[in-house]
Amino acid sequence: MHTNYVFLLNADKSPLGMIHPARARELQDKKKAAVFRRYPYVLILRNQVNSVIKACILKIDPGSKWTGFAIQMGSSIILRMELEHRGEIIKLDLEKRAGFRRGRRSRNLRYRMERSGRRKKEGWLPPSLRHRLLTVETWIKRFMRYCPIITIEIEQVRFDTQKMNNPEIKGVEYQQGELMGYEVRQYLLEKWGNECTYCGVKNVPLEVEHVKPKSKGGSDRVSNLTLACHCCNQKKGDKDVSEFVSDKAKLDIILSQAKTPLKDAAAVNSTRFAIVETAKKLCDNVKCWTGGRTKFNRFKQGFEKSHSIDAACVGESGSNIKIKTQQPLIVVCKGHGSRQARRVNKYGFPAVQKAKAVFTHATAGDLVRVVLDSDRKNVTKGKYIARVKTPTKKAVEVVINGKRVEISSMKNVSFIQRSDGYAYSF
Ligand SMILES: [Zn+2]
Repeated sequence: MHTNYVFLLNADKSPLGMIHPARARELQDKKKAAVFRRYPYVLILRNQVNSVIKACILKIDPGSKWTGFAIQMGSSIILRMELEHRGEIIKLDLEKRAGFRRGRRSRNLRYRMERSGRRKKEGWLPPSLRHRLLTVETWIKRFMRYCPIITIEIEQVRFDTQKMNNPEIKGVEYQQGELMGYEVRQYLLEKWGNECTYCGVKNVPLEVEHVKPKSKGGSDRVSNLTLACHCCNQKKGDKDVSEFVSDKAKLDIILSQAKTPLKDAAAVNSTRFAIVETAKKLCDNVKCWTGGRTKFNRFKQGFEKSHSIDAACVGESGSNIKIKTQQPLIVVCKGHGSRQARRVNKYGFPAVQKAKAVFTHATAGDLVRVVLDSDRKNVTKGKYIARVKTPTKKAVEVVINGKRVEISSMKNVSFIQRSDGYAYSF
């Protein structure tokens, strides 16, 4: 088990494929390749070669807070990455801005014309979701620039909408542990809202449960299935639902919900569909899969749950994989700061005097190597890798172990990677 494989570029910057970290070290030691980029790690050959390109598959599991990425070559997973989105921060920022505007309007009583032409365009996504789409697009482009990717596989829906089309009417052959069983489970989770039907408990493992027990002639049809916690499932046992649930009103709700098929719209997630559409523009071969299949692959191979492992398990190609990377690259979306030129105090006056412009080349978010030549209040002297917080009059202020430290001379600072709106770690 190793860290992620390394991207290798030919001298003309065309992607050659991914190489083992040991091979990358060898190339660097022999001065045959140089570092092109640190995160993700990309090497570039000094001399152009004619070599066979090893094609790869990019696999994506898009989520609301995290998106998992994996690159597969043959049956080996050679790169894993987990991307943390900042949708919540964007939402809060926009609410804050709306608050300021509202305040301004109630202060200023002049007449304002009604604004027109503000209808939302088709395909419009709220800014927090659009951010997710755009960052995923950025990373697809980045991977395709550094790696010969011929196929993109994406988990698009939670369960197979084709096979599950009106499952209540058609009836599906359901068997625990089979692929279809996982699809049914995902369908039921969506339908019954991720909780125990009988006691309403959440965040516990749920078991598929027959409303009318099989021993009393109940079928395996989805309309006869629900989800219950282990406790309720045991207690109910062979009883019919009418014997088990004493509350008449609750019983009626359960029986009617069991008969109502899930609306098609519930299976559609606009962001995931938009991500697939974007991927199709970037790559000729895009395959879409279900969450049921991802889970099936993960359980069958006994992998632990993580965003990048889920990405690796997406699709048919995820049914038999070898994971060759110990840890995923963690990437956090940090944004590019605000357009506000100066911080203000609570009275609206500048909180800090503007620093005299000094040409330090540094901006917030740059990753730098710093040499501390003396002990500071919270940090002992030595060499550190740190993130630039803000440029100062003399040099920069960096963050070391969560503490702000001022560096007084650019002589002690060298750049590793310029700010690109993301923070990287393992
Ligand atoms: Zn329960």
